[in-house]
Amino acid sequence: MSRAFWLQEMTDDLKPTKALDKAVYADVAIIGGGYVGLWTALQVLEKSPGSQVVILEKDICGAGASGRNGGFVMSWWPKINSLMACCGQDEAVHLAMASAQAVNEIGQFCDHHNIDAHFQQNGWLWTATSDNQRGAWESVVQRCENLGHRVFQRLSNSQIKSRTGSAVHLDGVFDPAVATVQPARLVRGLRRVALQRGIKIYEQTRVTGFEQQSLVKLKTPNGCVTAKSVVIATNAWAAEIPELSRLIVPVTSSIIVTETIPERLKNIGWTGGEAITDSQLMVDYYRTTLDGRVAFGKGVGALAFGSKMGADFDFNRRDSEATEADFRRAYPMLADVNIESRWSGPIDRTYDSLPLFGVLPGHKNVFYGIGWSGNGVGPSRIGGKILSSLALGLQDQWSQCGLVGRRVRQFPPEPVRYLAGSLVRAAVARKEKAESGGDKPAKLDLVLSRLAPAGLEDKAS
Ligand SMILES: Cc1cc2nc3c(=O)[nH]c(=O)nc-3n(C[C@H](O)[C@H](O)[C@H](O)COP(=O)(O)OP(=O)(O)OC[C@H]3O[C@@H](n4cnc5c(N)ncnc54)[C@H](O)[C@@H]3O)c2cc1C
Repeated sequence: MSRAFWLQEMTDDLKPTKALDKAVYADVAIIGGGYVGLWTALQVLEKSPGSQVVILEKDICGAGASGRNGGFVMSWWPKINSLMACCGQDEAVHLAMASAQAVNEIGQFCDHHNIDAHFQQNGWLWTATSDNQRGAWESVVQRCENLGHRVFQRLSNSQIKSRTGSAVHLDGVFDPAVATVQPARLVRGLRRVALQRGIKIYEQTRVTGFEQQSLVKLKTPNGCVTAKSVVIATNAWAAEIPELSRLIVPVTSSIIVTETIPERLKNIGWTGGEAITDSQLMVDYYRTTLDGRVAFGKGVGALAFGSKMGADFDFNRRDSEATEADFRRAYPMLADVNIESRWSGPIDRTYDSLPLFGVLPGHKNVFYGIGWSGNGVGPSRIGGKILSSLALGLQDQWSQCGLVGRRVRQFPPEPVRYLAGSLVRAAVARKEKAESGGDKPAKLDLVLSRLAPAGLEDKAS
């Protein structure tokens, strides 16, 4: 598998660490070397200096979603309605504020540790690119205002058009607190700091199973880790674990990156460095890079039977073409611009698009933090706070927060999950294609689309 553009673009050495080839002990063993695993490891050391922390990563740190994403560093404010439904008003506001604070903390962490992650806090334009999307943000914006938090600024239609550089954007609101990063630079920077702090990282080391005794024994092909507690931070791959398999569904998201076109971006006025989304369920998300490219993603949402993620989760030609078609539609004046890189990656989708934390049933010292649902760059820092407290057995605001051990709607078992999921996905695709072309969607597609899990934001439908 070739690496995503973000990893290729770095001049850093991506050589893996030595794979585990012996038996080792850990106070906390973490499976998965993405943002969640790395933030958790760093937080364990902050809360319990001197702890022995081990990370096991089947590929290299950043090979999963953390090195492939769109680089939007968002808060949970766009999910305030879902948060309130899951954990009540006070806890929802606390978590939303903490997640907004996490965006700043990531910037400060990068500054402090000289991580050149291209962190830029230029805000997020949440827009409508077809008539039916207008006002999709209204219930979120009003809820925030009613709670006394002015998270979003209302912009005029002409401001939206000029800041996005395209008249396709009809309407929208602006959240100035959102940032963007070059995602691979962030995850590789976290890895560097973790190694400097004495965290043992074994890359090319797949965890193949575990045995629960008073300690937990993690098995890998050529070694094992005996640990006081274990954290599962394997994102969509967690669906392979039977106890977690119905809590999340792995779906794909696809990204294309253009050649460098700084002059063209200047000509159309897209120079503010904002993160931009439309309001489709199969959301289009796009931003510019420091060297003047456009990175344009689409939540294409393909599923895998039995959640067995194959090559389509790295790249799928049809989904990439659909992503490019949306880019060309949003920026018709860039029709001649070359696409230099294309890839896909897995999203660990929950029903309400909020993450889940808990203890693996039957295993008192195995904890999980999964279900980021396409918003994990910023919130993974909160995930690290929660999972480190759980792994260390601390009774604090994080281990007791409303996202831990919550009861959630489960996805159906196979074959219903794949068949029904694919049916709903196709209906959403047809509905959104009709709407973006100004046509009326078929009634059946509207009905089926309502069965889809929640999206990146709590949108009015
Ligand atoms: C295309 C795409 C675009 C996205 N855009 C955004 C965005 O703009 N903003 C945003 O907030 N979020 C976005 N996301 C989501 C975001 O990237 C994730 O939520 C975030 O990276 C979560 O990190 P993680 O550590 O949970 O997962 P990962 O980075 O996937 O880490 C999990 C790791 O576990 C490893 N692993 C799996 N199984 C095993 C095993 N058995 N043994 C050992 N290791 C194992 C994997 O190799 C992987 O490295 C996007 C995701 C994708 C795919």
